Amino acid sequence: MAINTDLLIIGGGPAGLTAGLYAVRGGLDSVLIEKGILGGQVTTTYDVENYPGFPEPVSGADLVDKMEKQATRFGLKIKTMCEAQRIEIKDHKFHTYICDSSEGPVISDAVILASGNVPRKLGVPGEEKLAGRGVSYCATCDGALFRNREIAVIGGGDSALTEALFLTNFASKVYVVHRRDKFRGEKVYGDRILAHPKISVIWDSVLESIVGEEVVDGVKLKNVKTSEIREIKLDGVFIFVGLAPSTAIIKNSPGIAGIANEEGYIVTDESCKTKIEGLFAAGDVRAGNFRQIVVACANGATAAHNAYHYIDGVRTGSHK
Ligand code: NAP
Repeated sequence: MAINTDLLIIGGGPAGLTAGLYAVRGGLDSVLIEKGILGGQVTTTYDVENYPGFPEPVSGADLVDKMEKQATRFGLKIKTMCEAQRIEIKDHKFHTYICDSSEGPVISDAVILASGNVPRKLGVPGEEKLAGRGVSYCATCDGALFRNREIAVIGGGDSALTEALFLTNFASKVYVVHRRDKFRGEKVYGDRILAHPKISVIWDSVLESIVGEEVVDGVKLKNVKTSEIREIKLDGVFIFVGLAPSTAIIKNSPGIAGIANEEGYIVTDESCKTKIEGLFAAGDVRAGNFRQIVVACANGATAAHNAYHYIDGVRTGSHK
């Protein structure tokens, strides 16, 4: 059976939950659909240190839990483990097909896409075969499996640095392998990495392959300056080489084609409006964003505010 609502929010990370909070407080009947559990990338973060208002680190899961409670207190309706698969636009209404074909569409006046992003894979030999057998993309999920083991973290951005620090709670040794001789991530994390007794940084090096039959036995690394290959015996490889936008829905929806850039991120103006009337984007899926929780939240608020004015304008006939 179809669900009728003013606003549909796709994605339950900080951007989506904040959009929901602002939308329902503004009087919009709003439904949020999340394909997995609430929180997105944030739930894989053990310690969030830079979200204002929390002088002590807060876990990503706790922060999301608070955001959910706050939004549902004002009436946001949330449906998890349900993927938004396709959008059709009919008579200025968005018909979004969700979960599986037995569910009717969600029919709404506006949609906010806040679907976030997913970890990027490297595509090196051994990565796919040994995924879940020593290869991981989530330290909070799998870190405890590597107690007193030696592991490698690939990447030099904030994810690699923060997760490498977290993994020292379990592993006896953590190699951080970065393709350049300078970290991309924040200096405060880089300094902690360099000072940590359990961490060794391997600069100027890329992962050539992951070695092992049933489980990870080691890695082959290539020095990009000398082309020298070295093999290190270890038990786990955590890959944090960036994120890719989660936008399969665009490919399935010809009516909203052309809203993303070449990398797949959704292009909006500063009001979070896409080029399609009534369709907004917020958070990590939005092109050009500084990818931080606080920015995702700010986008969510902006998108909801402008969705409200769009819907109000359509209903009162003042929208051109
Ligand atoms: P990122 O900032 O894009 O960093 C990706 C890292 O992987 C870079 O160091 C990059 O090297 C490396 N890399 C990319 N492709 C590679 C390849 N093929 N082989 C080897 N290395 C490769 O991604 P992220 O760390 O996941 O962070 C994503 C966003 O979330 C960022 O905006 C980040 O600031 C934010 N974030 C913030 C926090 C925080 O504030 N606490 C925590 C996590 C994430 P190069 O440096 O050479 O490009």
